[in-house]
Amino acid sequence: MRRITLGFGTLLLMLGFVIYQLGLLVTFRSTEFQGQLPSFLRGILPTGLMGVAMQLGGGITAIVGLIVCICGAVSSYNKQILRQLEDIIATRSEERAVSMLRCRFCGAELEEQAIFCPVCNKSQR
Ligand SMILES: [Zn+2]
Repeated sequence: MRRITLGFGTLLLMLGFVIYQLGLLVTFRSTEFQGQLPSFLRGILPTGLMGVAMQLGGGITAIVGLIVCICGAVSSYNKQILRQLEDIIATRSEERAVSMLRCRFCGAELEEQAIFCPVCNKSQR
């Protein structure tokens, strides 16, 4: 899920950048581009206006892609921190559980519910 978000954001960012650059080209070299445009577009839009529209659309697409990327990165970063915290908490409680199962006198490991230490035979109650 995280990879899909990051990939999608990167794709949008690159696509927007390319469209923006094309828009710049169309704006500044409109006469050269006019011949390469599909015929159905040539009649509808003046190339200068289309270049500006492409710059706008490309810019917005790139910004949306960047935001998607940042959101994906931030959420994955948060998840990593959360996982590390969970690990720390789990380790701490494990340590506590282990320390509770040791003999109060000699420190030998005890079985759960043991009344006497198997090493020094002292009562644990
Ligand atoms: Zn003991």
